[in-house]
Amino acid sequence: MRFGAHVSSSGGISKAIARGQAIGCESLQVFTHNPRTWRPINHTDAEIAAFREQATAAGMGPLVSHGLYLMNLGAPDREVPSGPPGKPATSTRNIYRLSVTSLIQHLEIGERLGLAGVILHVGSSKGSTVDEAIDRIASGIAEAFAAAPGSCQIYLENTAGAGDTIGRTFGQLKSVWDGVGNPERLGVCLDTQHLFASGYPVHEPGGIDRVLEDFDATVGLAQLRCLHLNDSMTDFGSNRDRHENLGDGKIGPDGMRSILGAPRLQGLPVILEVPGITGEGPDLENMRRARTFHQEGLAARTAGKSS
Ligand SMILES: [Zn+2]
Ligand SMILES: [Zn+2]
Repeated sequence: MRFGAHVSSSGGISKAIARGQAIGCESLQVFTHNPRTWRPINHTDAEIAAFREQATAAGMGPLVSHGLYLMNLGAPDREVPSGPPGKPATSTRNIYRLSVTSLIQHLEIGERLGLAGVILHVGSSKGSTVDEAIDRIASGIAEAFAAAPGSCQIYLENTAGAGDTIGRTFGQLKSVWDGVGNPERLGVCLDTQHLFASGYPVHEPGGIDRVLEDFDATVGLAQLRCLHLNDSMTDFGSNRDRHENLGDGKIGPDGMRSILGAPRLQGLPVILEVPGITGEGPDLENMRRARTFHQEGLAARTAGKSS
């Protein structure tokens, strides 16, 4: 496993590499966009070159980005009223078109930075049927691939299942996958907190193995490119997306050991998106716990086999 974390890229994207190194990252996740606005950041050539050079010098990889939370490829393709919160609408906008444009920008900057993939929350249906939303999501991704050729991939992420989000089941991820029709640039990122919250029992003894068998039968293990490793603040099946520090949540230390010892997950980049002990995001302590749970999880499986 290549342990890494989501780190801030404020002050210039190249600064993310040193932040990752400071907490012991071997792989890394960043935002290439300002999470609060559709307007893309104008990354300078010098920043991009520095990011690539420092990542290479640090031996850090795979490198991935997390897509803007504003994106929703499941949104209906039409203009909707828009304005300041709580005030009358002053204009209209098309969330679907904004999302496709932003996804193209994510792929373009991902390519320039040498990222392996852009992790995408698949979207939500916003009043339309799930099937209609899945069709829009798949054609939006296909359009983005056509507009931004290259090797940077898109990893579909499973969701906690809140509201009308798509991607709470492996079957929904598979439907999007089949609709895109460009499998060489698609992958999947599974988030342990989202699995737990959407009712996949990754915390039970042997649970992760059964969940991964189900994933293999539905989507295919070969498509799994990345693991988001987070404990859960909320209950099993709660459909709420609330991350907790490793071992401190409802998945707990035994669940973490069981997940990290899973043979089918070895070799993957494992990215932490935890709140942090002091609330400032992934830190040295959570990275240390991840590696300890990993070693203990592997040892428990070896002991289980020989007894
Ligand atoms: Zn995510
Ligand atoms: Zn989450």
